[in-house]
Amino acid sequence: MIFRQLFDPVSSTYTYILGDSESCEAIIIDPVFEQVRREIALLSELGLKLVASLDTHVHADHVTGAWLLAKRLGSRIALSENGGAQGVDISLKSGSRVAFGKRYVEARATPGHTDGCMTFVLDDRSMAFTGDTLLVRGCGRTDFQQGSADRLYRSVHDEIFSLPDTCVIYPGHDYAGNTCSSVGEEKRFNPRLGLSIGVEDFRVYMENLGLPHPRLIDVAVPANLRCGRADQVPDAEPEWGPVLTTFAGVPEISPQWIEDNLDRVHLIDVREPQEFNDALGHAPGAVLIPLGTLPQRLDELGRDRPLAIICRSGARSARATLFLKQNGFDLVANVTGGMLRWRMLNLAVE
Ligand code: FE
Repeated sequence: MIFRQLFDPVSSTYTYILGDSESCEAIIIDPVFEQVRREIALLSELGLKLVASLDTHVHADHVTGAWLLAKRLGSRIALSENGGAQGVDISLKSGSRVAFGKRYVEARATPGHTDGCMTFVLDDRSMAFTGDTLLVRGCGRTDFQQGSADRLYRSVHDEIFSLPDTCVIYPGHDYAGNTCSSVGEEKRFNPRLGLSIGVEDFRVYMENLGLPHPRLIDVAVPANLRCGRADQVPDAEPEWGPVLTTFAGVPEISPQWIEDNLDRVHLIDVREPQEFNDALGHAPGAVLIPLGTLPQRLDELGRDRPLAIICRSGARSARATLFLKQNGFDLVANVTGGMLRWRMLNLAVE
């Protein structure tokens, strides 16, 4: 079998590709909309034909790439019958199998984080893809969507901890750099759900997490209830750099790539003058054109190189990026996360 684990650094989501090396058919689990170009390139390099994309649940923190993959590759979309989404081709029940060549994964209903959560177990029980039901030494939240700590506890104990101890757990996310775990390991060391912990303890633990409201929930959930269908298929991504088009249609590029390629772009900072010189500072060579003045200053923008647009958080620069696209600047991208992310990554400033 061919197996790859991929990571989306913006949402800390893991995506998995499983391929049958004989027939070259493959499935993908939890694809991220913005990463679809990368996934398609990898599938093609590995010589795999994508037959289905499976989501472990209706996500609240990123938009699924299921619809875009279906558009580009003709793959089918699989999701729990309890997910409540439109546009599903394969409606999964507990026990449903999704085949790729001679191999398959079996869906097990593991509700608790949401009603429609599923864990996908490989045919030989050597791997389980648990989504947000079970994370490495943690688990998904139970305080929004249809969350229920009691149901999550039962799902993990009955459906996941009943797998062989050696079964490798591949989670939907990780925020600390862990890539996988095993059933035996989580039974012993999961601080919330380990075998020595009762459902009462777990319920109180989950009631006291005190986490903020998820940033993207109001965009991601409605989009995922349509399997990630956007208003239109994004244009083919440009060749000048690793540009990713967001679900909102904004071309974006990573701060790291910009720092490494400052001489290949014009970097335009659309913040206000006082912000340009405050504690966050600005990127080397950035040209200040505040968003409000951009419409009058289009003549000042060089057309000999692509434009990279930056602001504090990435919001104003997203607006500027779309405005520039509408005004005939095809080679333009928003710098993901703005100066906040730039500084978090310790990139150069002036
Ligand atoms: Fe989730």
